[in-house]
Amino acid sequence: MTVPRSHPRYESLRIREMVSAGFLSGAVALEGVMAHGRGEAFDYILGEETLLTAKAAIRAAAATLLLSSHPVISVNGNVAALCSKEVVNLSLTSNSKIEVNLFYDSIQRRRIIIGMLYRAGAKEVLGLERHSMIKGLESARRMVSHGIAQADTVVVPLEDGDRTQALINAGKKVITIDLNPLSRTARTASITIVDNITRALPILSDYCKEMKGYHTEQLAEIAEFDNMANLKECVRLIKERLDEYIDA
Ligand code: ATP
Repeated sequence: MTVPRSHPRYESLRIREMVSAGFLSGAVALEGVMAHGRGEAFDYILGEETLLTAKAAIRAAAATLLLSSHPVISVNGNVAALCSKEVVNLSLTSNSKIEVNLFYDSIQRRRIIIGMLYRAGAKEVLGLERHSMIKGLESARRMVSHGIAQADTVVVPLEDGDRTQALINAGKKVITIDLNPLSRTARTASITIVDNITRALPILSDYCKEMKGYHTEQLAEIAEFDNMANLKECVRLIKERLDEYIDA
Protein backbone atom coordinates (compact mmCIF):
# COMPACT_ATOMS: atom_id res chain seq x y z
CA MET A 1 0.00 0.00 0.00
CA THR A 2 1.31 3.48 -0.81
CA VAL A 3 0.66 5.96 1.98
CA PRO A 4 -0.59 9.37 0.79
CA ARG A 5 1.86 12.22 1.51
CA SER A 6 -0.86 14.08 3.37
CA HIS A 7 -1.06 11.33 6.00
CA PRO A 8 0.07 12.66 9.41
CA ARG A 9 2.39 9.72 9.99
CA TYR A 10 3.68 9.75 6.42
CA GLU A 11 7.34 9.79 7.37
CA SER A 12 7.30 6.83 9.77
CA LEU A 13 5.12 4.84 7.36
CA ARG A 14 7.43 5.69 4.47
CA ILE A 15 10.39 4.44 6.53
CA ARG A 16 8.46 1.26 7.39
CA GLU A 17 7.84 0.67 3.69
CA MET A 18 11.57 1.00 3.00
CA VAL A 19 12.29 -1.70 5.59
CA SER A 20 9.65 -4.03 4.11
CA ALA A 21 11.03 -3.42 0.61
CA GLY A 22 14.49 -4.25 2.02
CA PHE A 23 13.10 -7.46 3.49
CA LEU A 24 11.48 -8.45 0.18
CA SER A 25 14.74 -7.79 -1.69
CA GLY A 26 16.67 -10.02 0.73
CA ALA A 27 18.76 -7.23 2.28
CA VAL A 28 16.91 -7.09 5.62
CA ALA A 29 16.61 -10.19 7.81
CA LEU A 30 13.25 -10.98 9.45
CA GLU A 31 14.92 -10.19 12.79
CA GLY A 32 15.88 -6.80 11.31
CA VAL A 33 12.21 -6.08 10.62
CA MET A 34 11.48 -6.74 14.31
CA ALA A 35 14.42 -4.60 15.44
CA HIS A 36 12.96 -1.80 13.35
CA GLY A 37 9.72 -2.12 15.33
CA ARG A 38 11.60 -1.58 18.57
CA GLY A 39 13.23 1.53 17.11
CA GLU A 40 9.86 2.83 15.86
CA ALA A 41 8.38 2.57 19.35
CA PHE A 42 11.17 4.74 20.78
CA ASP A 43 10.88 7.18 17.89
CA TYR A 44 7.17 7.55 18.65
CA ILE A 45 7.96 8.41 22.29
CA LEU A 46 10.72 10.86 21.22
CA GLY A 47 8.16 12.71 19.06
CA GLU A 48 9.83 11.65 15.77
CA GLU A 49 12.23 14.57 15.89
CA THR A 50 15.94 15.10 16.43
CA LEU A 51 16.37 16.19 20.05
CA LEU A 52 19.04 18.66 21.17
CA THR A 53 20.80 15.77 22.94
CA ALA A 54 21.08 14.00 19.57
CA LYS A 55 22.40 17.16 17.90
CA ALA A 56 25.14 17.41 20.57
CA ALA A 57 26.10 13.76 19.99
CA ILE A 58 26.11 14.24 16.20
CA ARG A 59 28.44 17.23 16.53
CA ALA A 60 30.87 15.24 18.71
CA ALA A 61 30.63 12.33 16.26
CA ALA A 62 31.48 14.57 13.29
CA ALA A 63 34.53 15.98 15.09
CA THR A 64 35.62 12.45 16.08
CA LEU A 65 35.33 11.25 12.48
CA LEU A 66 37.35 14.20 11.17
CA LEU A 67 40.07 13.55 13.76
CA SER A 68 40.29 9.83 12.89
CA SER A 69 42.97 8.36 10.66
CA HIS A 70 40.99 5.29 9.54
CA PRO A 71 37.24 5.81 10.04
CA VAL A 72 34.87 3.10 8.79
CA ILE A 73 31.07 2.98 8.45
CA SER A 74 29.72 -0.50 9.20
CA VAL A 75 26.55 -1.28 7.24
CA ASN A 76 23.89 -3.94 7.90
CA GLY A 77 20.67 -4.73 6.02
CA ASN A 78 18.48 -2.19 7.83
CA VAL A 79 21.02 0.58 7.32
CA ALA A 80 21.30 -0.20 3.61
CA ALA A 81 17.51 -0.38 3.17
CA LEU A 82 16.99 2.99 4.87
CA CYS A 83 20.07 5.02 4.04
CA SER A 84 22.37 3.69 1.29
CA LYS A 85 22.73 7.14 -0.32
CA GLU A 86 23.29 8.86 3.03
CA VAL A 87 25.97 6.29 3.94
CA VAL A 88 27.77 7.01 0.67
CA ASN A 89 27.46 10.75 1.30
CA LEU A 90 28.86 10.41 4.84
CA SER A 91 31.75 8.32 3.54
CA LEU A 92 32.63 11.25 1.25
CA THR A 93 32.20 14.07 3.78
CA SER A 94 34.08 12.19 6.54
CA ASN A 95 36.57 10.36 4.32
CA SER A 96 35.43 7.01 5.75
CA LYS A 97 35.52 3.54 4.23
CA ILE A 98 32.30 1.52 3.96
CA GLU A 99 32.18 -2.09 5.15
CA VAL A 100 29.23 -4.48 5.20
CA ASN A 101 29.01 -6.50 8.42
CA LEU A 102 25.94 -8.58 9.25
CA PHE A 103 24.53 -10.18 12.39
CA TYR A 104 22.46 -12.61 10.32
CA ASP A 105 25.18 -13.20 7.78
CA SER A 106 25.10 -14.99 4.44
CA ILE A 107 27.21 -14.43 1.35
CA GLN A 108 23.99 -13.80 -0.61
CA ARG A 109 22.80 -11.01 1.75
CA ARG A 110 26.29 -9.51 1.73
CA ARG A 111 26.20 -9.40 -2.09
CA ILE A 112 22.71 -7.83 -2.16
CA ILE A 113 23.72 -5.08 0.30
CA ILE A 114 27.03 -4.40 -1.42
CA GLY A 115 25.09 -4.05 -4.70
CA MET A 116 22.71 -1.52 -3.11
CA LEU A 117 25.64 0.57 -1.90
CA TYR A 118 27.34 0.55 -5.31
CA ARG A 119 24.05 1.57 -6.93
CA ALA A 120 23.85 4.42 -4.41
CA GLY A 121 27.21 5.69 -5.69
CA ALA A 122 29.84 4.00 -3.51
CA LYS A 123 33.27 3.69 -5.12
CA GLU A 124 34.43 0.87 -2.83
CA VAL A 125 32.54 -1.40 -0.43
CA LEU A 126 34.45 -3.81 1.84
CA GLY A 127 33.05 -6.87 3.55
CA LEU A 128 32.63 -9.50 0.87
CA GLU A 129 35.97 -11.06 1.73
CA ARG A 130 36.85 -11.21 5.44
CA HIS A 131 40.27 -12.29 6.60
CA SER A 132 40.62 -10.56 10.00
CA MET A 133 39.17 -11.34 13.41
CA ILE A 134 37.66 -9.25 16.20
CA LYS A 135 38.37 -10.96 19.52
CA GLY A 136 35.57 -11.67 22.00
CA LEU A 137 32.85 -12.53 19.49
CA GLU A 138 31.31 -15.87 18.63
CA SER A 139 31.30 -17.59 15.24
CA ALA A 140 31.08 -15.79 11.87
CA ARG A 141 30.44 -12.36 13.44
CA ARG A 142 34.05 -12.03 14.50
CA MET A 143 35.24 -12.07 10.88
CA VAL A 144 35.79 -8.62 9.33
CA SER A 145 37.56 -7.09 6.34
CA HIS A 146 40.68 -4.95 6.63
CA GLY A 147 38.52 -1.80 6.94
CA ILE A 148 37.10 -2.53 10.39
CA ALA A 149 40.24 -4.46 11.40
CA GLN A 150 42.43 -1.39 10.89
CA ALA A 151 39.88 1.28 11.86
CA ASP A 152 40.46 3.65 14.76
CA THR A 153 36.80 4.77 14.65
CA VAL A 154 33.81 2.69 13.56
CA VAL A 155 30.31 4.02 12.94
CA VAL A 156 28.01 1.11 13.82
CA PRO A 157 24.36 2.13 13.51
CA LEU A 158 21.58 -0.21 14.70
CA GLU A 159 24.08 -2.54 16.33
CA ASP A 160 23.97 -5.13 19.10
CA GLY A 161 25.73 -4.76 22.43
CA ASP A 162 28.19 -7.65 22.11
CA ARG A 163 29.72 -6.33 18.91
CA THR A 164 29.91 -2.79 20.23
CA GLN A 165 31.70 -4.06 23.35
CA ALA A 166 34.09 -6.17 21.24
CA LEU A 167 35.01 -3.12 19.10
CA ILE A 168 35.58 -1.02 22.23
CA ASN A 169 37.72 -3.83 23.71
CA ALA A 170 39.74 -3.79 20.48
CA GLY A 171 40.63 -0.14 21.27
CA LYS A 172 38.37 1.48 18.68
CA LYS A 173 36.14 4.51 19.14
CA VAL A 174 32.54 3.49 18.45
CA ILE A 175 29.88 5.88 17.20
CA THR A 176 26.40 4.38 17.17
CA ILE A 177 22.96 5.56 16.12
CA ASP A 178 20.27 3.90 18.21
CA LEU A 179 16.77 5.10 19.04
CA ASN A 180 16.85 3.11 22.28
CA PRO A 181 18.91 5.03 24.87
CA LEU A 182 18.59 2.05 27.23
CA SER A 183 20.19 -0.54 24.91
CA ARG A 184 23.54 -2.10 25.75
CA THR A 185 24.93 -0.63 22.54
CA ALA A 186 23.82 2.87 23.55
CA ARG A 187 25.48 2.50 26.95
CA THR A 188 28.67 0.85 25.64
CA ALA A 189 29.51 3.10 22.66
CA SER A 190 31.87 6.08 22.88
CA ILE A 191 29.23 8.32 21.28
CA THR A 192 25.54 7.41 20.98
CA ILE A 193 23.22 9.35 18.71
CA VAL A 194 19.68 8.67 19.94
CA ASP A 195 17.80 9.49 16.78
CA ASN A 196 16.33 7.83 13.72
CA ILE A 197 19.17 6.98 11.35
CA THR A 198 17.17 8.55 8.50
CA ARG A 199 17.32 11.95 10.25
CA ALA A 200 20.74 11.60 11.91
CA LEU A 201 22.94 10.66 8.94
CA PRO A 202 22.23 13.77 6.80
CA ILE A 203 22.89 16.02 9.82
CA LEU A 204 26.14 14.14 10.53
CA SER A 205 27.27 14.68 6.93
CA ASP A 206 26.39 18.39 7.12
CA TYR A 207 28.44 18.81 10.33
CA CYS A 208 31.40 16.98 8.74
CA LYS A 209 31.25 19.35 5.77
CA GLU A 210 30.95 22.41 8.00
CA MET A 211 33.83 21.41 10.32
CA LYS A 212 36.28 20.31 7.64
CA GLY A 213 38.33 23.49 7.94
CA TYR A 214 38.45 23.47 11.77
CA HIS A 215 41.81 23.22 13.57
CA THR A 216 42.69 19.95 15.31
CA GLU A 217 42.46 21.60 18.76
CA GLN A 218 39.00 22.91 17.97
CA LEU A 219 37.86 19.48 16.76
CA ALA A 220 39.37 17.78 19.82
CA GLU A 221 37.39 20.13 22.08
CA ILE A 222 34.12 19.33 20.24
CA ALA A 223 34.89 15.58 20.24
CA GLU A 224 35.20 15.63 24.06
CA PHE A 225 31.86 14.07 25.00
CA ASP A 226 30.23 12.58 28.10
CA ASN A 227 28.10 9.83 26.55
CA MET A 228 26.48 8.65 29.77
CA ALA A 229 25.46 12.21 30.76
CA ASN A 230 23.93 12.73 27.30
CA LEU A 231 22.00 9.43 27.52
CA LYS A 232 20.69 10.32 30.97
CA GLU A 233 19.51 13.71 29.67
CA CYS A 234 17.79 11.93 26.79
CA VAL A 235 15.98 9.57 29.18
CA ARG A 236 15.03 12.59 31.32
CA LEU A 237 13.47 14.23 28.22
CA ILE A 238 11.49 11.05 27.51
CA LYS A 239 10.31 11.01 31.13
CA GLU A 240 9.30 14.66 30.83
CA ARG A 241 7.18 13.84 27.78
CA LEU A 242 5.52 10.92 29.58
CA ASP A 243 4.90 13.07 32.68
CA GLU A 244 3.26 15.74 30.48
CA TYR A 245 0.97 13.03 29.12
CA ILE A 246 0.06 11.77 32.59
CA ASP A 247 -0.56 15.31 33.89
CA ALA A 248 -2.66 16.41 30.89
P1 ATP B 1 21.51 -4.27 22.52
O1 ATP B 1 22.22 -5.60 22.41
O2 ATP B 1 22.38 -3.12 22.25
O3 ATP B 1 20.71 -4.10 23.83
P2 ATP B 1 19.00 -4.71 21.07
O4 ATP B 1 18.92 -6.17 21.33
O5 ATP B 1 18.06 -3.79 21.75
O6 ATP B 1 20.52 -4.22 21.27
P3 ATP B 1 19.28 -4.96 18.22
O7 ATP B 1 18.15 -5.61 17.57
O8 ATP B 1 20.54 -5.70 18.31
O9 ATP B 1 18.72 -4.38 19.56
O10 ATP B 1 19.65 -3.55 17.53
C1 ATP B 1 18.78 -2.74 16.92
C2 ATP B 1 18.70 -1.40 17.63
O11 ATP B 1 18.50 -0.42 16.61
C3 ATP B 1 17.53 -1.31 18.60
O12 ATP B 1 17.98 -0.76 19.82
C4 ATP B 1 16.54 -0.33 17.92
O13 ATP B 1 15.96 0.53 18.86
C5 ATP B 1 17.46 0.45 17.00
N1 ATP B 1 16.81 0.92 15.75
C6 ATP B 1 15.96 0.25 14.93
N2 ATP B 1 15.60 1.00 13.87
C7 ATP B 1 16.25 2.18 13.99
C8 ATP B 1 16.32 3.37 13.21
N3 ATP B 1 15.62 3.51 12.06
N4 ATP B 1 17.11 4.38 13.64
C9 ATP B 1 17.83 4.26 14.79
N5 ATP B 1 17.80 3.16 15.58
C10 ATP B 1 17.03 2.13 15.20
